Amino acid sequence: MAQVGFIGLGNMGGPMAINLVKAGHQVKVFDLSDQAIASVVEQGAIAVNSANDVALNADFIITMLPAGKHVAGLYLGENGLLSVVNQDTLMIDSSTIDAATARLVAQAAQDQGISFIDAPVSGGVGGAVAGSLSFICGGEAAHFEQAKTVLDDMGKNIFHAGSVGAGQVAKICNNMLLSILMAGTSEALQMGIDNGLDPKVLSEIMLKSSGKNWCLELYNPVPGVMESVPSSNNYQGGFMVDLMLKDLGLAAEAAQQSKSSTPLGSLARSMYAMHSRHGAGGDDFSSIIKVFSPKK
Ligand code: NAD
Repeated sequence: MAQVGFIGLGNMGGPMAINLVKAGHQVKVFDLSDQAIASVVEQGAIAVNSANDVALNADFIITMLPAGKHVAGLYLGENGLLSVVNQDTLMIDSSTIDAATARLVAQAAQDQGISFIDAPVSGGVGGAVAGSLSFICGGEAAHFEQAKTVLDDMGKNIFHAGSVGAGQVAKICNNMLLSILMAGTSEALQMGIDNGLDPKVLSEIMLKSSGKNWCLELYNPVPGVMESVPSSNNYQGGFMVDLMLKDLGLAAEAAQQSKSSTPLGSLARSMYAMHSRHGAGGDDFSSIIKVFSPKK
């Protein structure tokens, strides 16, 4: 059993912290929202009064915050987490943030002899509740091995992408590709529908042909083709358009910094932004097919 501090108990962090409690760890928690704290304390976590109180005697501190500015604000500065944490603690940031902030925080930690890895997740709220998340980690190999002690209790696939920041980069590469695949799959399916094809039959054909991909296989965007996917539930549940848009923004920032050419990623970002502006920000990202469909 480890002593774990957990900060950021929202849609993802709440169920992740609960899974650590269920695995038998002692989990001290903090969030800016009292309601978020109450829902995990109900399940056996211990509330403390501030983020810095979480650090006391912790073997691991896990943070799960909205964006880079929240992570920098929490870790850095005169009274930041790094100013109180002891040198035996491994800090794990599982938020999805820009790689530059992850590296900045890691450097500040290293300057004080404190271990830090970035470990963004994939798998959504369902994966957080089920304990089946994928963790994509960046950091030293020894820290990665140490982190598995707790990551294994919240996830199924634990990857080591490379040095610190690499977890964030790998995650946005994957999500940029996913956004493109979903838009491309939607475009092809809609063209088939417009030309009189049954989307179920067309999907079966493409699944056995060179157009086969994850969206066709597990997440078809056309309502009624597959059961138990967001498209058959009015695009509710799943991975929200606005979260995809956030990741595409991080991908654009990374591409800018590395001078990478990402024309399809840029186009996908623009499409998801337009879709969000038309009111679909809270819908699942497979609803991007509506951009191609005739208005009903
Ligand atoms: P959320 O907004 O539901 O939760 C964030 C929590 O952080 C909130 O409870 C907020 O009160 C708390 N918080 C913010 N600043 C804080 C601070 N300084 N101290 C303490 N608590 C603070 O967000 P979420 O959906 O849980 O997402 C968290 C991270 O996971 C994000 O980076 C997101 O991109 C990533 N992510 C989300 C999903 C998803 O499907 N929701 C999937 C994969 C990754």
